[in-house]
Amino acid sequence: MQLQLKTWQFVEDYLKTKTGIIIPIGSTEQHGPTGLIGTDALTAEMIGRGAGEKVGALVAPTISVGMAQHHLAFPGSVTLRPTTLIAVVRDTVVSLARHGFTRFFFVNGHGGNIATVTAAFSEIYAERSMERLSNQPSIKCALRNWWEGAGTTKLCQELYPSGHGSHATPSEVALTWYKYPETMQQKPMEPRIAPNGSFADAEDYRRAFPDGRIGADPNLATPEHGKRIYDLAVEEVARDYEKWAAR
Ligand SMILES: [Zn+2]
Repeated sequence: MQLQLKTWQFVEDYLKTKTGIIIPIGSTEQHGPTGLIGTDALTAEMIGRGAGEKVGALVAPTISVGMAQHHLAFPGSVTLRPTTLIAVVRDTVVSLARHGFTRFFFVNGHGGNIATVTAAFSEIYAERSMERLSNQPSIKCALRNWWEGAGTTKLCQELYPSGHGSHATPSEVALTWYKYPETMQQKPMEPRIAPNGSFADAEDYRRAFPDGRIGADPNLATPEHGKRIYDLAVEEVARDYEKWAAR
């Protein structure tokens, strides 16, 4: 249930029985020669919304721009500074908490967001703790990467025993092709499986990974794989949300 497609009266009624909300968070950054720039936001959004439908939870607007400074040497990539993302996460949570939401479940599509979003949670908790507002219910935040469920991890390993890599991966590319089949394209890539390694800033990244991929062969992706990954990830994220929100 998308928050954006509901009325304030609907939300007021929802809050009489539930106080949890799912917040998709991703990134807007290059994903190799064939992957979509919106991949990390689109995958978090589709899985967050799918899980929300399954459990009858509201799903907030997607936070589509995240930590992508290392991709800025590729056209189209957009980043926030860590302090900006902390402010965005904090303001989103505090706005919703004002209405009575107490459980904030971030479905994440980008590994580079984890440290900063976790820091934002610490900021939010510190602020609440230092205010000592005893009349306010305590709030809880969680970050759940769409790929981390045991079944989803296993399926991705089975589908891509080699060439999965860590950026522009066939699993994330498959998800976007399942949801947006009109964007599908394949191109020969050299080497077929991109190199692995570390990086620092944007220039360093582009020198080490000239076509943008890390360790991945996105040509292994198919829309059918995307559907299988989607169905399983939605099921696992929904299950984790329900267990967590009930605590
Ligand atoms: Zn990605």
